[in-house]
Amino acid sequence: MLNIKDFESKVLRVNQETTEIKSFQFSVPDDFSFKPAQHVVLELHVDGKKQMKSFSISSSPSRKGYIETTKRIGPSEYSKVMGSLKEGDVVRIKGPYGLFLLNEEKDAVMIAGGIGITPFKDMIEYASEKVLPIKITLLFSNKTPEDIPFKEELDELDRNNSDLKIIHTITRPHQNKEEWDGLTGHINEEMIRKEVESFEGKVFYVCGPPSMVNEVVAILEKMQIPKEQIKIERFTGYDGEE
Ligand SMILES: Cc1cc2nc3c(=O)[nH]c(=O)nc-3n(C[C@H](O)[C@H](O)[C@H](O)COP(=O)(O)OP(=O)(O)OC[C@H]3O[C@@H](n4cnc5c(N)ncnc54)[C@H](O)[C@@H]3O)c2cc1C
Repeated sequence: MLNIKDFESKVLRVNQETTEIKSFQFSVPDDFSFKPAQHVVLELHVDGKKQMKSFSISSSPSRKGYIETTKRIGPSEYSKVMGSLKEGDVVRIKGPYGLFLLNEEKDAVMIAGGIGITPFKDMIEYASEKVLPIKITLLFSNKTPEDIPFKEELDELDRNNSDLKIIHTITRPHQNKEEWDGLTGHINEEMIRKEVESFEGKVFYVCGPPSMVNEVVAILEKMQIPKEQIKIERFTGYDGEE
């Protein structure tokens, strides 16, 4: 991409989305622009050294003056530093990067595992604001209902956009604190066939930890969805996880 920038950015807001997930609003220069759902590289000082990691932008490009990124805060040192960022802190950002882009003309089936929702939140916000003439089905898998990031925002987008359908599935229903009467288990062929009326001309976007992406792509290939209709974003760094 030609408009890659490298800039100092201020933390404008931090929000605890779930027990494991935090979202961050970072300031961006006026001439920073990106397409849904590109990512940025965030440089932090970890143990006195610079460390860089990639994050999908989880807010729509129409939000001016800031971008939102969302991180699952794990046990790594980088995670600890990111998790302790607060309003007013300064970080370094490079971007945007990436070709995991929304096709603005074709109906979409978005399949997300956990933190893999970030690019889809960006795409869905953008499609809703622009009133794009595309139907979107989001299949979203999380461990428990309490682990669903952006639940309220997604519910509101679902209410206000009649072209959007969101289906949640919960993989560890026995750990639920609250009642769950929705789907359970990993995203599987049966779920996709039930929730997606026809596959013709649709773009299938898959995002999440590499193991989840590989599992879903294998299902789509078994269902004979042509490769050209499948777009993937692997969140490397979460290898071997659900
Ligand atoms: C294009 C792209 C977009 C991405 N977008 C996002 C995004 O929007 N949100 C997001 O959260 N991530 C995203 N990622 C992944 C992100 O860049 C990091 O790799 C990821 O967040 C893991 O970083 P980490 O520092 O927490 O773990 P790492 O240090 O990379 O550790 C890898 C794994 O080991 C585990 N681990 C690390 N340290 C310990 C320890 N001491 N004890 C036990 N286990 C440990 C971690 O939990 C993790 O599962 C993206 C990646 C790519 C390539």
